[in-house]
Formats: sequence, C-alpha cells, structure tokens
Amino acid sequence: MANTGHKTAGAKIKKVDVVTLGCSKNLVDSERLVQQFADNGISVRHNPEGDLKVSPVVVINTCGFIGDAKEESINTILQYAELKAKGKVDKIIVMGCLSERYRKELSEELPEVDAWYGKFDWVNLISDMVAECKSHPDYRRALSTPLHSAYLKIAEGCNRFCAFCAIPLITGRFKSRPVEEIVEEVKMLTAKGVTELNVIAQDLSSYGLDIYGEKSLARLISEISEVEGVKWIRLHYAYPADFPYDILPVMRDNPKVCKYLDIALQHISDRVLGNMRRHISADETRALIRRIRNEVPGIHLRTTLMVGFPGEEEADFQELVGFVKEMRFERMGAFAYCEEDDTHAARNLPDNIEEDVKQERLDEIMRIQEEISLEIQSEKVGKIFDVLVDREDEDYYVARTQFDSPEVDPEVLIKKDAVLHPGNYYKVKVVEALPFELISELCQ
Ligand code: SF4
Repeated sequence: MANTGHKTAGAKIKKVDVVTLGCSKNLVDSERLVQQFADNGISVRHNPEGDLKVSPVVVINTCGFIGDAKEESINTILQYAELKAKGKVDKIIVMGCLSERYRKELSEELPEVDAWYGKFDWVNLISDMVAECKSHPDYRRALSTPLHSAYLKIAEGCNRFCAFCAIPLITGRFKSRPVEEIVEEVKMLTAKGVTELNVIAQDLSSYGLDIYGEKSLARLISEISEVEGVKWIRLHYAYPADFPYDILPVMRDNPKVCKYLDIALQHISDRVLGNMRRHISADETRALIRRIRNEVPGIHLRTTLMVGFPGEEEADFQELVGFVKEMRFERMGAFAYCEEDDTHAARNLPDNIEEDVKQERLDEIMRIQEEISLEIQSEKVGKIFDVLVDREDEDYYVARTQFDSPEVDPEVLIKKDAVLHPGNYYKVKVVEALPFELISELCQ
C-alpha cells in the first residue's frame, strides 16, 4: 500500500530532481520548492533532461487540468516508477493539481509513489523530508526562467465555476495575495535582476475583491510598477465578466505596463455562453473588446476559445468563426471540449458532439487564425520595436516585444550583426514576418 501521508523524513537526502508539468502557476510552486531544497543544502535539479543521471529522490509536480495534461502527468510518474524498479530512483514524491484531485485513487493504483502532496500542502514537503528543516515556506524562489524574467502569481483559486472547468474544484476559492506581500516579492525578484514580470492568476479580474472588498488590480499593478528595476509588466488571464475597467488607463499611460492582455473568451454564441455559465453575453463581449481597444490603442489581445461544447450547433460554431474574423485577435488559442469529472457540464450536459466534428471545428478556426496572425505579423515589417533579448542561438539573438508573452507568443529573431546581451533591451527594425517569428535588425 502506498504512503498517502506525508512522512518521508529520516533518510539523509542529498540530491533531488524536481519535474514540473503544467502551467506557469505550477512552475512558480516548483521554484519555491527548489529554493527550499537549496536552503537546506540539498542539491536540486529542476526539469532535468533525460534519465541518465537521475537523482535518488524525484518530486513530480503534476497538472490535472485536462485529459492530455493528466495523461502526461501519469506517464511521467510511470516513467519514474520504471526507473525505481531498476534501482535508479529511491523515492518518488508526487504533488500538484493531479494529486490534489485524485490522490486517493492514484495512491491505490500507483504504489510505487512514496508520498503524495496536493496543490497547497506541498509547502510541508521539506519539513517532512528533512529532519531539521532550515527554512519555512516563503515567497523566495529559485527561478527557472531566464534571470531577467519571472512569473508573478497574485492569487490562487477561482470562484467562477464555468461549466466545463475543473480548476475551482482543484484550487478552491479565489484568494488574493495582499498588495504588500506581492510588492515585497517583486523587490526580491528585481534584486536578482528580474526586469520583466508576467503577472498570473486564474482570474485577474477578481483581484482584491476577497481581501479589500473592491477590485484592486489597477492599484496593485501601479504599485508594482514603482518598484525600482521593473521594466515590463504583462497581464495574464482576465475574466471578461466584471472586468476591472480601471486597469485600462494604467495600461495606456504607464510605460511599464505592456499593452497586452490575455483574456479567455471561450465562445460568442449567447446560447453556448449561457450553457458554459460564463455570465456574459455576446453583445457585452463585443462591447468589452471594443472598449479595451479604444482605451488602450495598440493593445495586443490573446484569447482562448473552445469548440465542441455540449449542444454547440453548426450555427453557433459559424457565429464563433464570424467573431474570430471580425475581432482579428492578435493571438488566439483554441481547444476542443473535453469532459472533466465532477464539473457542471459533466454532470448535466451530454458530451454530444462527435470527436471528429470537434476536431474539424478546431482545425477550421485555427486555420482562420493562422491567416489573421500572419497578416498582423506582416503589418510589423518596417516598424521599430523595443525588444528584450532572452537568449542567444546559433544564428540569431532571440527576443520578444512587449506584445509577446514567453512560451506562447511569436519571438523576434535579431541578426547577429553586433554583440547583444540576454536580459538587455534594444531597439530593432522588423525586416521579415514569418507565422511564428519576426526577423529583425538592430537599430544602430
Ligand atoms: S474563470 Fe477560468 S479557471 Fe475559473 S472556472 Fe472559468 S475557466 Fe476555470
């Protein structure tokens, strides 16, 4: 029988591998954990490649968001279980969303795992593992991103309960972090050399409501921008209903706040939006997008849409296609609906769209968006942008503009005509647009 409790203390632990799956919010948790290992004198590798030099203890930070992510998490646990069977790993510890959600079932099916932690109790992992723990969980982190860039998690959880989404079931109620605590974390990050902050939360729009009784995103972002060393602040995952409009003048007027917003809209058909429990209509959605674009000229919007939600008819889908063509989002991602255990949709709405129809709709909408994206990319040729250099590749320096979030958005490749330094900002002129990259030259 697997150990579903938390006690793994006793053994002298010298080396640990931490493997992070899932989203940037998970990554932040892992970075905090890695810092604690380091504080306790334990040598730790984050996301090591390959299995040739496995450490005796492996912590797998799992994702339980959707089917594919769950499968990836389980496959990763199974890979390490195989290594344990071969004697290459002594202990496997699993934490994160998947084990928060399915700890009981998984612990019965995967006896190779020595200890299970969830989405929040992982903060006890170090004190459970190390007899004389030298650090208490705090917000210090061992960054795994380039040293000039960090994710900044400002809240946990979500109160929205969209019909398709399991996240509130995993992460619990929305909980904002106090402004002062976040500002302290930003000071700590800038002291390490971070200049770009990618602000993340499941629902930016609700920030502050639970602890201050009012939406406080604008105040938070303004205070963060005053911390010395901060250059770019980029906002991720606003919820369209109850949008905090007072953030718009901050985005327009504060040069440190990127003109970029990630806001998942999911659909445009009133019928589908209602079934999804999104608390917003098609007209309100259009008005919101128009107002954001009017108040913040040049803003780049990233959205996420879902096709194949239960009951989505061809007419609903065509309405969505029309919306994508009309709005011309600078960036867009889409998913096919996948039923998630215990959600409102799984309990009440039959998953009645054939998988091949879902896939066709997904392919069609992404094809349309690819054309739009390339047109928008092409409009940048000949223009000058400030970029932040992330790294040096063989033929180019790889950079991003304020409109490009790490990992998901196009990159800017700079010809190697001069020596540039990762972490520094430069002006470049775009000379060619490709679907996922801009080719540019340094402005002298
Ligand atoms: S707002 Fe986002 S995280 Fe919250 S329930 Fe809806 S889809 Fe899920």
